[in-house]
Amino acid sequence: MKKITIAIDGYSSSGKSTMAKDLAREIGYIYIDTGAMYRAVTLYAIQHQLFKGEEVDADQLEQQMSDISISFRLNEESGRPDTYLNGVNVEQRIREMDVAERVSFVAALGFVRRVLVAQQQEMGRHKGVVMDGRDVGTVVFPDAELKIFVTASPEVRAQRRVDELNAKGLKTSYEEVLANVKKRDHIDTTRKEGPLVQAEDAVVLDNSFMTLEEQKNWLLTHYKKAVSLNG
Ligand code: C5P
Repeated sequence: MKKITIAIDGYSSSGKSTMAKDLAREIGYIYIDTGAMYRAVTLYAIQHQLFKGEEVDADQLEQQMSDISISFRLNEESGRPDTYLNGVNVEQRIREMDVAERVSFVAALGFVRRVLVAQQQEMGRHKGVVMDGRDVGTVVFPDAELKIFVTASPEVRAQRRVDELNAKGLKTSYEEVLANVKKRDHIDTTRKEGPLVQAEDAVVLDNSFMTLEEQKNWLLTHYKKAVSLNG
């Protein structure tokens, strides 16, 4: 069957990663979490003391971009890819609050976006990828055969993130997470480069009140339709 490119964009904690991972596994595509790449650059900046409060030293980071190597390797246990930063598995570490609080500032830097977008385009060069993020359908792969834009209310998304963090044993309050979700929405939608916007030809999915099973079926239907239209 002909392979296509699937771009899944949407708000923080809208559940797009879970959907994208499950779809990729089901149809035998490669899954790429572009948010994890922005998080990994942020972690690098934290580890190299490039932050002064919320401000990152952009000049230093730009000089060090070529020292940052991000890759994904399949975790045999979870069946999902883990994120590696310079050879170290950082999959858990990049989900912590200190990274979440700073990532939108790093993701707003033009040079960071240019480097990561080029890497993402290379990773998806042969199609057969499900890539999730904010600008996949608009900037990374504007010609993707299937574009999905996922949304849900900030309250529903914050609760999901709290549940996710709690399940991992990371304690945090709903209020803190809700504030972070809203702040990231604001920065992501108003930044100059690669802002979160719905591509004109994207199909919208509001999953506030959908079960995982319903989302999965919805996505599979759209995937099959896109393949038959492009086959
Ligand atoms: O998807 P996730 O919430 O892990 O993404 C973390 C952050 O990375 C987002 O809040 C956003 O600021 C940034 N991001 C981005 N462009 C992407 C993916 C993520 O700016 N394609």
